[in-house]
Amino acid sequence: MKKRELGINTICTHTGELKDTSYNGAVSPLYMSTSYAFEDVDKKRYPRYFNTPNQEALSIKIAALEHAETAMIFGSGMAAVSTGILAFLSAGDHVVLQNMLYGGTYNLVTTQFDKMGVSYSFTDGLSIADFEDKIRDNTKIIYIETPSNPLLTITDLGGISKLAEKYGLISIIDNTFASPVNQNPIDFGIDVVIHSATKYMGGHSDICAGAIATSKALMEPIFQLAINLGGSLSDYTVWLLERSIKTMGIRVKTQNENAMHLATYLENHSLVKKVYYPGLTSHEDHELAKKQMSGFGGMMSFELEETLDAAAFRKALNFIKSSMSLAGVESTVLSPAMTSHALMGAEEREKQGIADGLIRFSLGIEDKEDLIADMKQAFEKISKNEMAISTP
Ligand SMILES: *Cc1c(COP(=O)(O)O)cnc(C)c1O
Repeated sequence: MKKRELGINTICTHTGELKDTSYNGAVSPLYMSTSYAFEDVDKKRYPRYFNTPNQEALSIKIAALEHAETAMIFGSGMAAVSTGILAFLSAGDHVVLQNMLYGGTYNLVTTQFDKMGVSYSFTDGLSIADFEDKIRDNTKIIYIETPSNPLLTITDLGGISKLAEKYGLISIIDNTFASPVNQNPIDFGIDVVIHSATKYMGGHSDICAGAIATSKALMEPIFQLAINLGGSLSDYTVWLLERSIKTMGIRVKTQNENAMHLATYLENHSLVKKVYYPGLTSHEDHELAKKQMSGFGGMMSFELEETLDAAAFRKALNFIKSSMSLAGVESTVLSPAMTSHALMGAEEREKQGIADGLIRFSLGIEDKEDLIADMKQAFEKISKNEMAISTP
């Protein structure tokens, strides 16, 4: 394992920050220029070359957070995902992908790869043998997501990196759900780490951005494709993201604690059938999660008993909002069967284990007593309705 020189909160607060040499202000100055004087042939500063002062400063912070040599910031998580994958592919190549993936990534693969002449296979399960089964002579990439959405499955980082090494493949992970606070895949030999910075890095549900962290050698083809695709982030948002990341360590720590507390509460609730959270000893991959994560994250899912209506439960909550996105300071819930996984169809959902009564819970930073109180009153409301319906 590579040794970190600074603690996570110090990296979040300081690493990469720009000095305000004019006024000695406390925070990085914001440079909005899209046009800079010529320095030399290798240093043409321009937003779409990903090298404005604020982009460079934030990249240093993100690289440090992921124990990587270098990082790049993108206009969205999907700009990072698409650029990060396509940089290593040509027509005729093949990709092996985990079967549980973010919907946008699944859509990128299934709607765009065929016409580029790139073939792909989704695994049947999450064991290393499941991944190895799908590798062909022309495979170039293994792509994983752990913990996954919405069932918080865990994929073995060390096992995947060894498999990639054995076959000479590039291993890529979407590390969004864990955040760099809880999981640093490069320490386990994974090659490329991708984030939707819209989630934990931004953390306030008001920034759309993405990031890639990797070695300098692997970043070269990513950079060459990125300047052509043009998915850079505006410097104002880069600056705002730098500010947001300053509190990421303490936000995520609180979100981890809230998730563990609520998962334990829900696991012991008579109206809850099952809880999916890697921090629970009942989670089938709890030991693996313990090995590769320093915290279990702020995301969990739970399944209501079949007699209960998930939509009615969500509506019965007071301050916990229904929301499509995740990882903000506010707690939010979503029904995957009705939203993120609606297009999948009932049969495929059942195969993947996504029940109609499944609720995905993104824990915020509110006080845990208040979160429990909101859940309690929602359970009371819906179980009263149940009784009213079932008693003639
Ligand atoms: C949101 C998300 C993305 C896509 O990020 P955008 O910023 O919305 O483009 C990718 N992967 C995961 C796991 C996500 O949650």
